[in-house]
Amino acid sequence: MTVSINLKNILSTLPCAVKLVLVSKYQSVETIMEAYNTGYRVFGENKAQELITKQPLMPKDIEWHFIGHLQTNKVKYIVPFVSLIHSVESLKLLMEINKEALKNNKIINCLMQFHIATEETKFGLSYQEAEEILNSDDYKKLNNINICGVMGMATFTEDKQVVRKEFQNLKHIFDTLKSKYFAGNETFKEISMGMSDDFHVAVEEGSTMVRVGTAIFKEV
Ligand SMILES: *Cc1c(COP(=O)(O)O)cnc(C)c1O
Repeated sequence: MTVSINLKNILSTLPCAVKLVLVSKYQSVETIMEAYNTGYRVFGENKAQELITKQPLMPKDIEWHFIGHLQTNKVKYIVPFVSLIHSVESLKLLMEINKEALKNNKIINCLMQFHIATEETKFGLSYQEAEEILNSDDYKKLNNINICGVMGMATFTEDKQVVRKEFQNLKHIFDTLKSKYFAGNETFKEISMGMSDDFHVAVEEGSTMVRVGTAIFKEV
């Protein structure tokens, strides 16, 4: 029952316009079904193998988001069912997603992941790398992907000012890309930022999608 209570509590604090991606990594199918049975349908996984294993065991009306580092050799397994890939961080990956999307006769929605944290270990593009992708001829030929916005992870720290600055930076990147490359494109609208420890700050700074796991699956 705690899952459904935690989920309800968190949903009640979020503005309607902010989508909650329920991060179900490490959770058993049984536990995830507890959230599903409350009516929730939007789930996120960060490891391709884990997603590929769970997806066939779960109801088909789940909206699956992929939020972790994605290897090109795993793309073909998730493209047939995934709704949004949050973690595009290279042209090579984007081209692979496009290739598999074409084979499946689909258009796959993607976010560009930016490196906004100070830690070296977090994945993601720099602003300059993103521009290189968007200006490239290869990118312009991709008809089966749709870039809908940006994603980022803040530094793991208690210092909320640091976290806030990083989210402001991601919002600024979004605004700049929007005006330079996606003006008039209504589908470029998502800013995926905020996790269990920092989603309130992220929402204050303009997040449209929060990715929350621990705060929902913890025991209270
Ligand atoms: C695990 C994970 C989350 C959720 O983190 P919690 O702290 O459990 O809320 C969000 N985004 C990504 C990319 C993750 O890997």
